[in-house]
Amino acid sequence: MSNSILHSTVSQLSKQLRAGELTSTQIVEAFLDRIKRSDPSIHAFLSTAGDRALEKAKQFDQSRSTNSAAPLAGIPIAVKDVLCTEELPTTCASKMLEKFQSPYNAGVVEKLNQAGMIMLGKTNMDEFAMGGSTENSAFGLTRNPWDLNRTPGGSSGGSAACLAAAQAPMSIGTDTGGSIRQPAAFCGVSGLKPTYGRVSRYGLVAFASSLDQVGPMGHTVEDLALLLQVIAGHDHRDSTSIPSDVPDYSAELNAGCKGLRIGVVRDHLESEGLDDDIRKSITQAIDVYRQAGATIVDVTLPNTKHSIATYYIIAPSEASSNLSRYSAAHYGHRANPNKNLAKDTSALIDMYCRSRSEGFGSEVKRRIMLGTYTLSAGYYDAYYLKALKVRRLIRQDYDKAFETADVILGPTTPTTAFKLGEKSSDPVQMYLVDLFTVGANLAGTPALSIPCGKSSGGLPIGIQLQAPPLAEATLLRAGHAYQQLTQYQPEWPTL
Ligand code: GLN
Repeated sequence: MSNSILHSTVSQLSKQLRAGELTSTQIVEAFLDRIKRSDPSIHAFLSTAGDRALEKAKQFDQSRSTNSAAPLAGIPIAVKDVLCTEELPTTCASKMLEKFQSPYNAGVVEKLNQAGMIMLGKTNMDEFAMGGSTENSAFGLTRNPWDLNRTPGGSSGGSAACLAAAQAPMSIGTDTGGSIRQPAAFCGVSGLKPTYGRVSRYGLVAFASSLDQVGPMGHTVEDLALLLQVIAGHDHRDSTSIPSDVPDYSAELNAGCKGLRIGVVRDHLESEGLDDDIRKSITQAIDVYRQAGATIVDVTLPNTKHSIATYYIIAPSEASSNLSRYSAAHYGHRANPNKNLAKDTSALIDMYCRSRSEGFGSEVKRRIMLGTYTLSAGYYDAYYLKALKVRRLIRQDYDKAFETADVILGPTTPTTAFKLGEKSSDPVQMYLVDLFTVGANLAGTPALSIPCGKSSGGLPIGIQLQAPPLAEATLLRAGHAYQQLTQYQPEWPTL
């Protein structure tokens, strides 16, 4: 029984739950037990809700007859530890926030609660979401369930690994430059970065505010549609939130791909750094769509070659500003007082310096330094302003491409999951992994990564689908069509 629960999609669990064939308690128990047994080797979680989750499941089961028909009520979920939760600590995988307990829930967490979902725990990540391997967590790395010597990707590595390890049926991640899609690709699961502003960021600890977005992760596109339905929508507490209606994301799911114009960027497919196995998978995916009646068109995104440079100026600039709030004065890690200093301003500056030195890890410090540099007088025009101009060009590339294509299909990542330690000492190598993902963040457009076969070494491969702003329904429709056409069945590695 427990294995069939663990190896189910959320739509399957939801149907069984509503048909009375399963209870929420059984589901939550199965996942909590799996976490207990497997997390010592995976370390996808930074904290778990344990008995509290079980208590909620019991309440759900008792009141079920009077419960609403909300499709995700009684279903458990894991939440990246960058979203504020009243119930569990919110650490952002940083020593700086190790003891931080949020007094309120993030907008997304409120919505999960309102939908009757049950939080299993908070997932591991790169510190403050800065990284692409989850090796930058101050509390220890996460392993890829497909190969324990490899990274699950990042920064939402915990949210992807917990799905592949069957520790949760769905999860919430965040994506500033690819952090939902890249780990989804590395772990063989699906993940969606919604349009900038589609999902509330109230209570999301800020990394780079003009890029950050919260999104759903799960086993199938159908599951992502269900979860996006819950979390999307306007929130007046987030000034960047889009005040437009949320469509019914499941309604168009089965519309197929006949007539859909699928854009392919040849340069991306031919790029040198792209693994042959990935190139082959993309080519096969293009064939699947073509045979099912989609129109394949060539499009170009000429400024992709500048996107890493642009992103790694804009993101650290915003990060340096956002992270200035960790002064140790109001909350966060505070170093022990230096008794030798007089109680004047030097003691205050000393407190800031030592607290920040102790509280932040090296990647976070690197970005703060980079960002303060690119924003400083004399360099602002040369770097930050220039990056903003290139960002506009990147957005224009997308606008142009979407004149002839409904969605753009390509690789999510240049390689499959790399080995732990392989790139951690070379930040530039780590940054290059983001080549295909950062464009959507810079342009503010939605993008989806779905599994598309395995490499010759047995590692998952992801394909990326991108669409114009607010066209999530088209993305989900295209992704679902692919999963239907290929009779996709989620897979879980044996652990
Ligand atoms: N890897 C990218 C970075 O390090 C993206 C991170 C993210 O999307 N949160 O900034």
